[in-house]
Amino acid sequence: MVRRITKYGEQILKTKAAEVTKFDENLRELGSDLVETMYAENGLGLAAPQIGESKRVFAIDMRRRVDTETPCVFAIDGKELPLDIAMPLIAVNPEVEEIGEYVIVSEEGCLSFPGIYAEVERSEAVKMKYKDVDGNPHELVCEGLFARCVQHENDHLDGVCFIDLLRSKELFKIDSKLRKLRKQTREFLKENK
Ligand SMILES: [Zn+2]
Repeated sequence: MVRRITKYGEQILKTKAAEVTKFDENLRELGSDLVETMYAENGLGLAAPQIGESKRVFAIDMRRRVDTETPCVFAIDGKELPLDIAMPLIAVNPEVEEIGEYVIVSEEGCLSFPGIYAEVERSEAVKMKYKDVDGNPHELVCEGLFARCVQHENDHLDGVCFIDLLRSKELFKIDSKLRKLRKQTREFLKENK
């Protein structure tokens, strides 16, 4: 089911999400709702708090990246897999470790901040331990845009959004857009109480 995306100004985006303890039908449904909503909104990744569920789950589909020329470098459980087999990736209770030698600055957006983009520093590579929706443990190692996406989605589970990582100069550039969005969200919440 396609769900409504929560927007900047909603408390759930600032809340630390809860560990998943039950690997049941509800979790599988949350996983498929995440994927469906991500596809409907044309996103590369989506975290559960962005569809109103404060749980440690996110989805990514690297096949939806704009630049398909740049190869997507990753391994799951030590194996390099074709994207069509690995995606969509649904990560439950992820633990992300930054393993990049470098930090890369690149433009980032977020479905909870429509139309707002900013340059964000991220580690070039990460290692992530996670479980799939059936509770099986896995380990992902990835770099580049995939690693950026993992860090962005994982931050959502800790109540951190990309704007929280900006230098004040970058934040200043998008300040008026942020105010406008926060006002819109406030009005939406008032009307939909
Ligand atoms: Zn986001």
